[in-house]
Amino acid sequence: MEPSRTKHLHAESYRIDSEAKSTDERPVVESSAKILLSVIICIAFVTRYAYGIDTPQHLEPFLTKNTRLMVVSPHPDDETLAAGGLIQRVLRLGGSVEVVFMTSGDGFPEGVEKETQISRPNAQDYRNYGKLRKREARQALRVLGMNKQDVVFLNFPDGGLRNLLQKHWFDRNPFFRSPFTLEDRPQATDSLLPDVEFNGEDVKREIEKLLLEFHPSLIAVADARDRHPDHCSTYFFVNKSLKAYRKNYPTLDPKILTFLVHFRQWPMGSGAGTGALLNPPDGFSEEGPAWISLALSDEESANKRKSLMEYQSQMLVMGRYLMSFARANELFLTDQQEGKEGPAKMQCLGSK
Ligand SMILES: [Zn+2]
Repeated sequence: MEPSRTKHLHAESYRIDSEAKSTDERPVVESSAKILLSVIICIAFVTRYAYGIDTPQHLEPFLTKNTRLMVVSPHPDDETLAAGGLIQRVLRLGGSVEVVFMTSGDGFPEGVEKETQISRPNAQDYRNYGKLRKREARQALRVLGMNKQDVVFLNFPDGGLRNLLQKHWFDRNPFFRSPFTLEDRPQATDSLLPDVEFNGEDVKREIEKLLLEFHPSLIAVADARDRHPDHCSTYFFVNKSLKAYRKNYPTLDPKILTFLVHFRQWPMGSGAGTGALLNPPDGFSEEGPAWISLALSDEESANKRKSLMEYQSQMLVMGRYLMSFARANELFLTDQQEGKEGPAKMQCLGSK
């Protein structure tokens, strides 16, 4: 979530213990589960095209104790809004989960003003706001059952990801600087690699590094058609990193699910906040996306609500909107954008 822009800041990013994730201990992705997932995804496509319906297929059969789920979240709160139930389910089955935050959400003027009651926040106010959102994220994920070492903050600029994707790919003039925190790089303690700065190439390298360390079997990432620039840009960064990863590890080919957070007023409106089913938004895509639904148990739904309540700074600004994601199910899309960066990318970059 996050109606606005940029951020950045220091703070403790929790690193993965690379020893513990060494090749030897890396669970080999259960091939049968992968095959099953592929088959169901094919069925989802076939069913839709054969019958012209948008009824979501179900995700449950694809999740096993061998699932290694990586959730790539543009801002603190998107992971819980979109996948708070999925995270709990994979952990309960005995699988592994890593949550990666692209930004720490510190470029949100309305939020900072509301939080601090300062009408003209300065760079330090924005940095402090990022620290607050990171604390909230750690607590929210603890509620979902995660360990802090499996939560990674990359601290790229909130509100600036599209800029890095489009105009600042390489580390050369003009350099990108957050208009909020006035930073031009993550704090050294937050970076996985040395000398990381705010440029597209470094975002791609950092995600690549995470893929190499974690070896996910399933990735949940913001959809390419999400209307928030940080969200759709996150998709394209992950897509770019995956290309390099697949070249090196062709046998470890993770499945991609995408999630939608920003699309018009969805999912506000009928059923919001009542625990009703979350349905795909009208008019989302003419291409006929294949939706996949995960039904949440009462306990998972309750924990998801609790987790969202940990985002107090966001509840203050848009509580009703956040709670409209607390439903009886979560929706994902099978990735049909992969490899074709046409119209969705043009829209994301603002050229369509
Ligand atoms: Zn967001």
